[in-house]
This record gives sequence, structure tokens and C-alpha cells, in this order.
Amino acid sequence: MDLTEPIASLPKTSSVTIKKLQSLEIKNYYDLINYFPSRYEDYSLISKIKAVQPGETVTLTGQISDSKYQVTRTGLRIQVFKLKDDTGEIELGFYNQPYLLRLFKKGMILSISGICERYGKKLSMKPKEYELNNTKIHTGRIIPIYPEKRGLSSKTIREKMFNVLNNVENNPAEIFPEQVISFNNLIKENIAYKQIHFPDSIESARKARERLAFDELSVIQLTNRLVKKEWEKEKVGNRFTMGINHELSLKQFVDNLPFKLTNAQKRVWEEISENLKSQKPMNRFLQGEVGSGKTVIAALACYFSYLNGYQSILMAPTEILALQHYSTIIQLFKNTKVKIGLQTGSHKTNSTSDIKKLNIIIGTHALISKKIKFGKIGLVIIDEQHRFGVAQRSELKNKGINPHLLTMTATPIPRTVALTLYGELDLSVIDEMPPGRKQVKTFFVPKEKRSSGYRWIKSQITTYHSQVFIVCPLIEESEIETMKSIKAAKAEYENLKKIFSEFNLGLLHGKIKSKEKNQTMEDFKNRKIDILVATPVVEVGVDIPNATIILIEGVERFGLAQLHQLRGRVGRSNKQSYCFLFTEKETSTIVERLKMFSKTNDGNKLAEEDLKIRGPGDIYGIKQHGYLDLKIASLSDYQMIEKTKKAVDYLEKHYSIDELPELEKRIDNHKMEEISKD
Ligand code: ADP
Ligand code: MG
Repeated sequence: MDLTEPIASLPKTSSVTIKKLQSLEIKNYYDLINYFPSRYEDYSLISKIKAVQPGETVTLTGQISDSKYQVTRTGLRIQVFKLKDDTGEIELGFYNQPYLLRLFKKGMILSISGICERYGKKLSMKPKEYELNNTKIHTGRIIPIYPEKRGLSSKTIREKMFNVLNNVENNPAEIFPEQVISFNNLIKENIAYKQIHFPDSIESARKARERLAFDELSVIQLTNRLVKKEWEKEKVGNRFTMGINHELSLKQFVDNLPFKLTNAQKRVWEEISENLKSQKPMNRFLQGEVGSGKTVIAALACYFSYLNGYQSILMAPTEILALQHYSTIIQLFKNTKVKIGLQTGSHKTNSTSDIKKLNIIIGTHALISKKIKFGKIGLVIIDEQHRFGVAQRSELKNKGINPHLLTMTATPIPRTVALTLYGELDLSVIDEMPPGRKQVKTFFVPKEKRSSGYRWIKSQITTYHSQVFIVCPLIEESEIETMKSIKAAKAEYENLKKIFSEFNLGLLHGKIKSKEKNQTMEDFKNRKIDILVATPVVEVGVDIPNATIILIEGVERFGLAQLHQLRGRVGRSNKQSYCFLFTEKETSTIVERLKMFSKTNDGNKLAEEDLKIRGPGDIYGIKQHGYLDLKIASLSDYQMIEKTKKAVDYLEKHYSIDELPELEKRIDNHKMEEISKD
């Protein structure tokens, strides 16, 4: 076995299982061993039957001596077996697994793990795990529990994992030189992979996790440093100049805005224009809370590019956002000669041959991968992108373009984390909201108050013409909308139409034709629609300043940072806005979290809070992108981040990358992963 072999060649594996593994993005054995357990069960205490104590979690091995089938008074079907070793006998009760009666035959060797109970004098066990022939994969050790997704059981994954780990010849080859390993007191990588899945002790699982987190953070940093170096080696095409004329034009542009720039916007613009004037291509990351006004900064940069005779590209993650940018940008440039075009899958304002003549081209993230003949591109802006454009950069480079690059996001990233992980990346932060904004009043609505919540919303629409977003629950953990979540959204929409029968409702989800989608957005903007029902994956950055109420269903499935982003769709004007949180699951932890969310409006704090409660591999709701998208390391582990930064500095100083071929492979691998995610 070789780690690069495709997962489809797993021996003794059904095609169904293979498909399920593939749907988890496990393409080869290497991906498989990088699918980490979320926790463990300790079944390492092995006992003889006679020595077992009630309440003890143990593993027993013996011969099956008897089997029978029982139905309890409540109708439960139980399969009962007797297990015998040389010291005694114990009864095992399985619930609702009739196939076991066929599988377990008298005389077979069976190992079981679970908690023993005593009923009167009789000792029995409800097995949690079992296996035949004492293979020691599922019992008699500390066993890994994997996140169960897409109908793939932990047991299946465990079995496949065990076989692969025991049969790969070239266990992941060591990526670091000995000095780095010993200096940081790390265990070897191939040992770490075995121990993270099948640890000898909880302590060695911890050491394994530490080693693999170290790898992950180091590889990210090295990749980003290398990409940055490559990027900077390129000749900069375009240095923008700021003569007095350009300065005046830009000033006029700002003076014509319907508002005054905030101090934060002014500062950020200074930082960006400084880059644009330099010979080095800009690679700046612009972070700012939802509604902090990033779009106008993007527009200023585009204008500067235009004044210098360059074309700019502005890309958004979805068609709707692209459309919205298009109408905003047209509005902002209405007193200028700037020619603006839109190019998405279903909207093309200009024919392909005309694109060269445009000054600003707006589209989705796919825009630059298309076979379009652009003009002289001086600037590329990527909106609502949580990662750092590794893919876009290589795409552009392949096309021989080396423009200035601005990436924008509302995802809060602790500054130290961003700077360490993403190398000498330039970071600008708009840390101030436009004046007059009121905090969104946030309420957690318990089940019994749901209908009065609806009543209150109705009265707001009637009295103030308020506009409302209703966000449907997240049905499946997926970035893309599945048919299931769309069905749920449709059902919810029908239901809400009955509740709000006197108002106009619109529905928005991913599978609606974009023409219809645009119409709905247009109608919402023009107040023809009172309530817009939407799935949570659509349109994070939608800007409808008149919308003042947002109701979010199934809030327990979101991370706080995500809820915060959703909440940011309202509160975009000086009107008081409201956010209602609905959940079907009112456990005390959830309620507590939501109460804390109601009181906090600081995205950074909420992101930190998410990090604290998020167990490894445990994900709330939509898979988070970018910086949160770590497999095993934790970004709240500042110590580890600092440690890996030092190691990376050391490596850079003492080695060239071709002296470390295994590390280089890993970096290439990581780059490919980033690209495929984008
Ligand atoms: P985001 O940073 O989330 O992309 P937008 O750029 O969409 O935010 O801006 C949100 C809203 O705030 C827009 O309606 C925009 O016109 C408005 N806005 C931006 N800057 C200011 C400002 N300095 N003063 C007042 N309103 C502003
Ligand atoms: Mg935006």
C-alpha cells in the first residue's frame, strides 16, 4: 500500500462505502489518515469475566455459549447472548440488531466492550463495541470515535483506518529535519499518525495531536511565505501614479459621496493607495465588520486604477452579490466616465470582445478563470473571501498578469493570528462603523413566545413598513445547498406565507434561476416584498439598508461568528434594527450561548468564543472557511502558533526548500488543497 493510492482501491470495501468516503473529500489513503477522530473511548481495561465489577467499563473476550431472541413488554427486540471464558459467564443484550443472531455462532470468539451491570445476582453487559476473533481494532484498547457524517459509521472508518495504517509501507515520511523535531520536543510524524488514531494512552494521543498541529500550522506558514515570495519576484506591471490631477479627481469622487468617510475608511484608503503607488504588487487583506463600508474603499481603488489607465476586476462569491455590487458601483460612479460591466454565468452586459474596453468588470469568483481577453488589468479585488487568494494568485500568474490584489472579508481574524499564519501579509482593518448606526437589538425567543414574536413583526411591518429577512434553518452541514435544505426552505416558505398571509413574501435559495433571484432582490429593494425568506448559505453581504428585522431559525446549528454575520444584514442604516433567534433545542448550554450572543456585538469576541467551545473536528453548522478551516490545530493556541513561527523562521534561515523534499511535497499538497477549495 502506498499513501497516494486512490481510496477506491481499499480492499474489501463496498462501493457504497467508497462513495461515502469520497464525499468526505477523502480521495486517497493520505486523506484518510488525515481524517482525525473527534474523541476516544477507553476500552483498554481487559478483564476476566469473574473479576468484573458492576459499573466498570471493560473489555471481555470469550466464547459464545448461547443465543436467544427476546421481546420486552414495551416491544423492544433484544438479542441475548452468553459469553463464557475460563472464569465465568456473562449475559450480553443487544437492542434491535437481529442480524447478530446470524453473525454470532456458538463457539465463536467474541470480544465486547461496554459497561457491566448487575441485576440481582446476574451480571450482564450492554455492549458498546464488539468484534470477532479478538482483532483488537474496536475493543481492548482506546478506540477512536470519528465524526459520523453522510451515513458513514465510526466503526467502518475505524476498520479502514486500522488496515491502512498497518499496511502502508511509506508511512508519512518525516517532513522536518531532526533539529526541529528534537528542539520542539515532538514525536515522529509516522508515530503521530498511528497514535492519533489508535493511541496507547490518552497522553500519547495528546502528543500525537500536538505533533500534527505543529505540522499543520508550519505548513500553512511556509506555504504562504513561499507564495508571497514567488508573487513578489514577479515584475510589477503597474505602478499607479498620484499626480495632482489624480489626487483632485479622487478628492472629487469622495466629495460626491452621499456620506463622509469614517476615519477608519480614510486610514485604510491611505494604506491601500500607498501600496498601489509602489513597484511591488499589493497583496492586502481588508477586514471590516459587516456594514463597515468596504465597498466604497474598493470603488476608490478601482477609480485610482482607472485614472492610471488600468482595468479593475471586482469579484464576489455569488451572482447576487455581484449584481448588487454592480448596481452600487454604477451608482457611485454615475458622475464619472468610468465604464462598468457585469459578467456572470447568466448576466453579461457586454460581449466578450467588448470587455477590453471596460474599466471595471464585476463578476463572481470564477471570472478570472474564464477564457476572457481582458485589457490591462491593474487591480483585482476579491470580496467576501475568507482565505487569501492563493488560488486566484496562481490563476492570474498563469495568465501572465501580476496586478495589485485586494481581498476583503467581514470574518474577524485576531490580528496576531493573521499576521503569523499569513506571513508578511498586509492587513488593513476598518474598525469603526459609520456614524449613527444603532446596535442591533438581539433577542433569544423561547418556543412558547414564538407566536408573539410573529405578531410583533407583523405590527412593525404594518406600522413602520419594516422589511424582514427570515433565515431558514441549516438542514445539512454543507457549504453548498443540498436538495434537502432547499426542500425545507420551500416548506418553511409555504408555512410562513400562511402566518404572514397579509404581506408579500419572497423566497431565495441557491437553486432558483438567477433571473428570478434578481427579480426577487429587486422587489425586496423596491419594497414590493415585505419578508424575504432565504436559506442561510446565500448572500452574506447583501446590503438592503431598509431591512431592519432579521429572524434566524435553528440558531443552534451556527457558530456565533456566523450568526453575527447573518445579523449584519440588518442595522445598515440609522434606524433601530432587531434580530430574533429561534431554536428548537433549548438546552441550557445553547440558551446560555445565545444570551451571551444577544449581549455582544463584537465579532472578534464572538469568534474567540467559537474557538473556545469548538472541539477538534467538531463543526457548528456550515463549514467555516479559511482561517478557521484547520484540521487539527487550534487558533486559540497562541503558544503553538508562536512556536511554529519560530520553527519556520529557523527552517527558512538554515535550509533551502529543495533540501527538504518531503516538506516541499507537503507544501505543494497544501497549495493544491487550497486551490480546490477556492
Ligand atoms: P460592507 O463592509 O459590509 O461591505 P458596505 O460597503 O456594503 O459594507 O456598506 C454598508 C452600508 O454603509 C452601505 O449602504 C454604504 O452606503 C454605507 N456606508 C459606507 N460608508 C459609509 C460612511 N462613511 N457613512 C455612512 N454610510 C456609509
Ligand atoms: Mg460587502
